[in-house]
Amino acid sequence: MYEVTVEAGFSSGHYLRNYKGKCENPHGHNYKVRVTLAGTELDDAGLLLDFKLLKQVMRPVIDRIDHQMLNDLEPFTVLNPSAENIAKYFYDQTSEQLAGMTAGRVRIKECTIWETDTTTATYFE
Ligand SMILES: [Zn+2]
Repeated sequence: MYEVTVEAGFSSGHYLRNYKGKCENPHGHNYKVRVTLAGTELDDAGLLLDFKLLKQVMRPVIDRIDHQMLNDLEPFTVLNPSAENIAKYFYDQTSEQLAGMTAGRVRIKECTIWETDTTTATYFE
């Protein structure tokens, strides 16, 4: 089994509903996201997936939420923008694009969101 990993950062505002504590008030984080792909077969160039392509897949997802208030954007108008839910959001958005791009050869293994340097949430299936 092969894995490739790409990380990227974004800065967004959020607040948590149905939550008592510091995060119930609007504030921002410098988030980091890590997407890990996995697969058993490499392409003709010996790559699971070109890092450049994975970055291209992640770019529109990041551009949509960077320097935005997450609570104002679907699906976070309803779903709480917790690190857990943001991790699943990246997982779902990048999975969709990747499936078409690699005809199922490569899948997303997991997606991790750093809300701070010492706190992460990971989504996988
Ligand atoms: Zn927060």
